[in-house]
Amino acid sequence: MTEQHRSAAGGLIGKRVPVLDKGWIELQDVMGDDMAIVSAARVSFMGESKGDEKDKRLLFRLLKDHHTSPFEQVEFKFRVRAPVVTWWQWVRHRTWQFNAQSGRYTPFEENDFYLPDTWRKQSPSNKQASRGALTDEEGAPFSAAALAHFEEGYRLYRAALDAGIARELARVYLPGFAVYYTWVCKVDAHNLMHFLRLRMAADAQYEIRVYAQAIYEHYFKPALPWTAEAFEKFILQPDAETASPT
Ligand SMILES: Cc1cc2nc3c(=O)[nH]c(=O)nc-3n(C[C@H](O)[C@H](O)[C@H](O)COP(=O)(O)OP(=O)(O)OC[C@H]3O[C@@H](n4cnc5c(N)ncnc54)[C@H](O)[C@@H]3O)c2cc1C
Repeated sequence: MTEQHRSAAGGLIGKRVPVLDKGWIELQDVMGDDMAIVSAARVSFMGESKGDEKDKRLLFRLLKDHHTSPFEQVEFKFRVRAPVVTWWQWVRHRTWQFNAQSGRYTPFEENDFYLPDTWRKQSPSNKQASRGALTDEEGAPFSAAALAHFEEGYRLYRAALDAGIARELARVYLPGFAVYYTWVCKVDAHNLMHFLRLRMAADAQYEIRVYAQAIYEHYFKPALPWTAEAFEKFILQPDAETASPT
């Protein structure tokens, strides 16, 4: 089982998943697997694998009892292209390590802007949320206006660059929240579960929720199948607290 786990995680490296209209996530590296978590816990009493059934039961017990540090032994490193509206929320998670593309160094391209598929409506009950959406017909003028805005912002940006204005300043002409940036970011499995719980939730903004869901479905679940099963039972569905591993 250990070898199977390792090859499942390693086989994901380099896999790129498209997100939003022009974004993506790519797994750059992963360190550890479910057994790394079990082994880290067993070091307490210098033990080793006791077979799948007991190993899995131990991992479930760790998560259920909030014995979280063994989950920090597994790390994921992603390369992510996302608009500022997404990064604005993602970078609040202080337990991630980030390195960002520099807009002072690399000029932006004409197509580096996020255009929503649909224009969601303001929720009447939650000031921070959306509910429902404009129809395609209702949304069409807003999409056209956004494209015109991107074009004009980019034209002013290029004109400023051509006039010799520094890249670090010319970017004030770009449509801020829509601009795509590429970052490299790293996190351990414990803090990734914290991020996923908050950002896959129904009240998380769509533009970050789709990244969290892509991380969970395409990387976390296949790399850590036991942990994902326990995460769903004890953290995403806490009512199932008495559940035992199948
Ligand atoms: C639906 C939603 C709405 C939000 N709305 C707003 C908003 O209106 N305004 C706003 O400013 N933010 C908002 N946030 C961001 C939120 O307040 C958190 O900053 C963000 O979710 C990161 O969570 P965190 O601090 O738990 O995560 P991390 O920074 O990853 O930290 C994980 C955990 O580590 C511990 N930790 C990390 N760093 C420290 C530290 N320096 N000191 C002590 N403990 C630490 C904490 O226990 C923390 O829970 C919102 C988040 C969500 C999900």
